[in-house]
Amino acid sequence: MRIIKLALQNLFTRRFTRKKELKVFPEWRGRYEIDKKKCIKCGLCMKYCPAFAIKDFKIIQDRCVKCGLCAFLCPVKAIQVKHELEA
Ligand code: SF4
Ligand code: SF4
Repeated sequence: MRIIKLALQNLFTRRFTRKKELKVFPEWRGRYEIDKKKCIKCGLCMKYCPAFAIKDFKIIQDRCVKCGLCAFLCPVKAIQVKHELEA
């Protein structure tokens, strides 16, 4: 009963969190992403990624150590580093 009361109270109160602009620090090495349109699925990036961060032609961002080897090896330059943060 108490949780329902709390939920109803929160429905009609203002939000406490606000969207803030995310800052990118100059040291940040970016975010590697595979362009699916360019990728020819040769598998080189998956084979040589030292962190095993590429599965099914997708980069697992939590595993990636930003070494850049995949982008260097890709024969069609389908892997790009992006420096924008996604909110
Ligand atoms: S940048 Fe390095 S660690 Fe990250 S996906 Fe590419 S090869 Fe793997
Ligand atoms: S190396 Fe490039 S072309 Fe080959 S699978 Fe990886 S992203 Fe695709």
